[in-house]
Amino acid sequence: MPKKKKNQQTLILNFKTAYDLMKERETIKRISTGTPIDELIGGGIEEGEVAEFFGEYGSGKTQIAKTLATIVAGEQKQQVVFADCEETFKPERIVQIAKNRGLDPELTLKNIHVLIPPTTNELVSITEKLPEGVTPKLLIIDGLTTLFRVEYIGRETLAERQGHLRKFLYALKRWAKQTKTVVVVTNQVYADASASPFMPLEYKELAVGGHSLWHCLDNRIFVRKAQGGTRIAKLVDSSLYPPAERPFKITEKGVEAVPKLVEAENSTEEKAEGEPHGG
Ligand code: ADP
Ligand code: MG
Repeated sequence: MPKKKKNQQTLILNFKTAYDLMKERETIKRISTGTPIDELIGGGIEEGEVAEFFGEYGSGKTQIAKTLATIVAGEQKQQVVFADCEETFKPERIVQIAKNRGLDPELTLKNIHVLIPPTTNELVSITEKLPEGVTPKLLIIDGLTTLFRVEYIGRETLAERQGHLRKFLYALKRWAKQTKTVVVVTNQVYADASASPFMPLEYKELAVGGHSLWHCLDNRIFVRKAQGGTRIAKLVDSSLYPPAERPFKITEKGVEAVPKLVEAENSTEEKAEGEPHGG
């Protein structure tokens, strides 16, 4: 009889019942975005999850990121790592958001560890090179694709760029699950020339990185400007929740809900029931 190879003898596959998975999921915590965006995703972003906010320049992605950072650092008193790939991080804004939310600004600032990665190599190794004692509850990558776009120029580099980006997101997702960290990435959009003019905006304005990155992301939220200084956050792609949108505004508190009346005027579609459906 042929001898079994060693790895065939020792390989034990890690099956779990769906019931066990459900029990495990009941212990998962969420972090609130401090905005009505929470209502789209079951109350907040789950630990171990990678969420993407995408939208055009000035739509409010960084403001969402800074509000989240302030809430986690100042209210939950947990560490945050903020990779500032677009070099737009201003601590003064954190102080403003913290003060207006009744949080201790100094404590908030001390809990946020900011890194400006000079190249994609530094960015992709971020989780391996965290300073001693830094175990973040929240990792933000503001401008996920910015450095990739700087380093990979021209159509001929597209495949290589996508590969590098995809590998990074996969590793990030695995790390998030293992360490129970919430990962939030923000991303720019480009106009899809092949899209029909009748398609919804979130399909005409594709997030950089395209389809190949989508399956690494648990929730994808499109952010855009609306009337009267209001903005809309729309959940467009989720493994658990239906598409739906909520308005928000940018204020001295960071991002927050808009009064109900304005909300009704700006709504373009039915609201979600708040319950997930299969996907
Ligand atoms: P992006 O999607 O490009 O990251 P931002 O998140 O930086 O966009 O959002 C920029 C918007 O936030 C600007 O329209 C600006 O007016 C608004 N904004 C920035 N700081 C404040 C503030 N302190 N109070 C109110 N609005 C602000
Ligand atoms: Mg920004």
